[in-house]
This record gives sequence, structure tokens and C-alpha cells, in this order.
Amino acid sequence: MTHVVTSSCVNHKYQDCVSVCPVDAFREMATYLVIDPDECIDCAACVTECPVDAIYYDDDVPELEFDWIEKNEIEAVDAPFADGTAEVLAEG
Ligand code: SF4
Repeated sequence: MTHVVTSSCVNHKYQDCVSVCPVDAFREMATYLVIDPDECIDCAACVTECPVDAIYYDDDVPELEFDWIEKNEIEAVDAPFADGTAEVLAEG
């Protein structure tokens, strides 16, 4: 089980989630973040930090976003560690 970033993150890439994660589970893609399922401990701290409600517990991911479960898992493998200093791409 893990938490998952979904499509609402794309072209927003807020960094609020990164700073509250106790295990540094976020990874950086060009226009969004993903969560490494091997690192996430399901603390849920990041969920309420996201201004665009992009993060879900994997059992709660909306059906239209199901592909993001595998996307997080696959892309996190080679993605660089997110340290919270990347540019925020959009406001609101
Ligand atoms: S649920 Fe907790 S451990 Fe998992 S990514 Fe969010 S803040 Fe990090």
C-alpha cells in the first residue's frame, strides 16, 4: 500500500507535500511529482498539504486516475529525489 500522486499535480508541482514527508518519498518529474511506493509509509501527512488535492491513498484513487498508481511506481524508480526546491509551475 502506498500513497499516489495523480494528474492534478501536472503543471502545478506544488512542493508543500515534500517538506512534510518523513521518509523523503517524493521524486521529481519535469511537470509533476511522484511517490516512491517502496519508501512511503502511508502516514498521510502529505494529503492535506496539497492545494490541488492530487494525493490519494491507493485504495481511494478515483477510477479515472487508476493509471497513476502504476505511473508513480514505475517512474519513481529512476526519478531524482525531490527536495522541495523545484519551481512551482502554477498558482491556484
Ligand atoms: S503518505 Fe506520508 S510517507 Fe507517504 S508520501 Fe505522503 S508524507 Fe510521505
